[in-house]
Amino acid sequence: MNSNEIRSRFLKFFEDRGHTVIKSSSLIPAQDPTLLFVNAGMVQFKDIFLGREQRSYTKAASSQKCVRAGGKHNDLDNVGHTRRHQTFFEMLGNFSFGDYFKKDAIDYAWILLTKEFKLPIDKLWVTVFREDDEAAQIWVTGPGVSRDRIVRLDEKDNFWQMGETGPCGPCSEIHYDLGAEASELGHPTCTFPCECGRYVEIWNLVFMQFNRDDKGHLSPLPKPSIDTGMGLERMSSVLQGKISNYETDLLRPIIDRACEIFGVEYGAAGASDVSLRIIADHVRAATFLISDGVIPSNEGRGYVLRKIMRRGIRQGTLLGYKNPFMYQLSGYVAEMMKSAYPELINTREYVARVIKTEEDRFAAMVAVGLQKLEDVIAHLTKEGKDTIPGPEIFKLYDTYGFPIDFTTEIADEKAMKLDMPGFNAELEKQRERARQSWKGDEGGTSPVYQKFADKGTPFLGYQAVRSTGRVIAIIKDDQLINSIEGLGQTAEVLLNETPFYAASGGQIGDTGTWTSSNGVTKVVDTYSPVRGVVVHKVQVEFGKLSVDDEVTAQVDEERRRRIAANHTGTHILHAVLREALGPHVKQAGSLVAPDRLRFDYTHFAPLSEREIQEIEEQINNIVFKNIPVQTQVMELNQAVSAGALAFFGEKYQQQVRVVSIPEISMELCGGTHTKMTGDVGLFKIVSESSIASGVRRIEALTGFGTYQRLEEDEDLLRELSHSLRAPRNELVRAIARMMDQQRQLENELEALKRKSAKSQVGNLVESPEVVKGIAVIARKVEGVDPSMLRELAENAASKIGSGVVVLGLASDGKASLVAFVSQDLQKRLHAGKIVKKVSEMVGGSGGGRPDFAQAGGKDAEKLEDALKAVYNIVADFIS
Ligand SMILES: [Zn+2]
Ligand SMILES: [Zn+2]
Repeated sequence: MNSNEIRSRFLKFFEDRGHTVIKSSSLIPAQDPTLLFVNAGMVQFKDIFLGREQRSYTKAASSQKCVRAGGKHNDLDNVGHTRRHQTFFEMLGNFSFGDYFKKDAIDYAWILLTKEFKLPIDKLWVTVFREDDEAAQIWVTGPGVSRDRIVRLDEKDNFWQMGETGPCGPCSEIHYDLGAEASELGHPTCTFPCECGRYVEIWNLVFMQFNRDDKGHLSPLPKPSIDTGMGLERMSSVLQGKISNYETDLLRPIIDRACEIFGVEYGAAGASDVSLRIIADHVRAATFLISDGVIPSNEGRGYVLRKIMRRGIRQGTLLGYKNPFMYQLSGYVAEMMKSAYPELINTREYVARVIKTEEDRFAAMVAVGLQKLEDVIAHLTKEGKDTIPGPEIFKLYDTYGFPIDFTTEIADEKAMKLDMPGFNAELEKQRERARQSWKGDEGGTSPVYQKFADKGTPFLGYQAVRSTGRVIAIIKDDQLINSIEGLGQTAEVLLNETPFYAASGGQIGDTGTWTSSNGVTKVVDTYSPVRGVVVHKVQVEFGKLSVDDEVTAQVDEERRRRIAANHTGTHILHAVLREALGPHVKQAGSLVAPDRLRFDYTHFAPLSEREIQEIEEQINNIVFKNIPVQTQVMELNQAVSAGALAFFGEKYQQQVRVVSIPEISMELCGGTHTKMTGDVGLFKIVSESSIASGVRRIEALTGFGTYQRLEEDEDLLRELSHSLRAPRNELVRAIARMMDQQRQLENELEALKRKSAKSQVGNLVESPEVVKGIAVIARKVEGVDPSMLRELAENAASKIGSGVVVLGLASDGKASLVAFVSQDLQKRLHAGKIVKKVSEMVGGSGGGRPDFAQAGGKDAEKLEDALKAVYNIVADFIS
């Protein structure tokens, strides 16, 4: 059975049993700061399990893209060396949110495996948690599994928990016996459980039964739930009769493709097989991650992606292949997987370009790293040291991307040791930094806000910019207080409901004023430290603000209007960019402020001036058409199938708000918008730049911002027109004329200088000093460019015929020197040596040929003394 069929039959099986089939979520977890990548099917349902969210269905099934890279259970280093470690995999799962429980979950699993997939019963083993008599009993009375095939395991293997606290419960696993030939330890007759590779876990059923409180106490959940996970690669290996995941139709074709590129054979040698498996896995991971919007970088998710890609690229080098190859394989992966993940086709070219760029960059870095390493070794050898310090190794590895095994190899060749503990210490620091960088704001959120998370703060600001509200909490230094009083006092305040928009989705928070019978308070910022909770940062203007005060909350309306113009403008920009550049354009970040907007998006090439003009014109056409901007609340699935753009990494509730401009744009968005596109006003792109490999940034202005910009430009023109004494339509010509004049003046000046230099020659050669019968001229000249000094000295030298000429020039505080020695004297005197001595006296160095030499120095004030010394220097050389 091929893997596409396994995937679709799994989903169909559960669909037939009343489950809603849900699409895989992005690999980037939706606002879950505790998680780097989605690593299990349940991740997108976490809030339902936690009771924070309701959906229209209570049973679901999915095939989820997952990435695990690092962590103790799936160390990257194991990939390729074992049968089952992968960074990318697909997890099939069925879920019950307080609907069915153990009995149905067990029945479904057994029927699917034995009836649908027709696995022989005598190959299956079942585990249950040590204390879970209930599950053990169901396995016997339900599917009729014999008791000796049911094994009880302890917490380590058969108890699951979501976190330190929260839902948890026993698991039950189903294992498949691959037969004695699968035993890596050569066990002929071992029985389950044995870790020799013969038994493979194919399905884990989690019974979410308890809630663990912060004291560790377990209490039964009111609505027990089910979460299951079946690795598609494992199931494929079982159903395709393969011992290793890498032999299945999910991975083996990639290996074969790589073999074609490299001209090697799989199975020919252990080491190259490992390389091929690493490549097959890593190219899958890179393809899916980049397609989902991750970009290789030096921190957080991008860092992990870069690490995965470089490990893959490195394997090609080990196989003796010098050219980029991963980008080709990524296209193949997209082709292979397109029926299950059609989005891969849209992003195929983009992904290939990102990978190709990384491959080129890596090759360049390795070349640089090699040079650096050799420098380091040379330096250490000179100092008599034989160990490369940890920080140096780390720098090569981290800054230059130089693979650690390269370093080891070269160090070996040169009989150098490596300070690996030092290196590991640096690595740990880096990992810590990486962890920090993807831990979102929520990581640092004070628990004081958490209290208000259940209720949340109703937002009235879509309809109104003014309303009354009641103060429900005042927070100062993470403590709840009763009131604040006095000018300038600040605190964070929660209202029972608010018209103030809390910063999110790129749109910055509202500001405004609150008035009550006790005083006036300014709101300086609004944000949401915990989802759904709106926190106002306030400052007392006068009087007092207390809990339970009724306030009239007034949003700064003009500011809000400008923000709305920039937000609607951002949506139009996004739509026009996708239209103009292609559907690979994805929002990678945005800022919507009152005075400007910023939009980051995935695209490779810079925009040409012409493209920018065209994009701007398109946008303004849409603005001027004055199309209504519509908002609508609908089901997430419905919105996505209607084509609404969702921003990856964003967490969406089942009910979503969709902002659309008919036939132009449709986005999931919680922001505040204009009523008509015309309200956006004139749209102006002010900059376009690159912020990371494959990510571009546009900064733009709308309405009032554009007007202000025009005013500034206008002032500039006015000023120019005034200084140049030309009307504005004459400015370009006036400047061209000025530049012409300047060029002419420069030419004239140059000619004059040349003339003056020539006229100096006569003076210079007038009375040479005679040193031991040799005519010596050592003079300081003025009023010439350093570039003319040589010409001048040449002229002087030819005038005196036989002799020595040394000329010096001081300009910009620096000294320039030239020296000539005539042909007849070159056996006795050397221009280079003379100039060297003279230049040392002006704090410089130089030299040259016997007949001509030049030098410079930084002490122009010593030039005259140095020139006076020339006579003695010549005398010294002669004797
Ligand atoms: Zn065994
Ligand atoms: Zn938006």
